Amino acid sequence: MTTDEIVGWAVIVALLALIPAFIARKKRLGFWTFYVFGLMLWIGAMIAVLVMKDRRRRCPYCSEIIQPQAMVCPRCQRDLPSLVPAGARVET
Ligand SMILES: [Zn+2]
Repeated sequence: MTTDEIVGWAVIVALLALIPAFIARKKRLGFWTFYVFGLMLWIGAMIAVLVMKDRRRRCPYCSEIIQPQAMVCPRCQRDLPSLVPAGARVET
């Protein structure tokens, strides 16, 4: 392999790893965790990010997607139901 080929493959791998990373960011799972995972084992990162549960939840009043820890909706400013106990599943 020439240096150009190695650089070319490195660029392809770096770009492919962005796919699971962006999906992970959308699901609030951690962009860099899945980017590094994608660099090491791309198909594994893709499967993991697709099967993992979305950690976002929706405001019950305006349906805005909000952070799981939020106590006030950033859009409609209404108080949200009290925090779910640690470890509890958040249904979306
Ligand atoms: Zn709201």
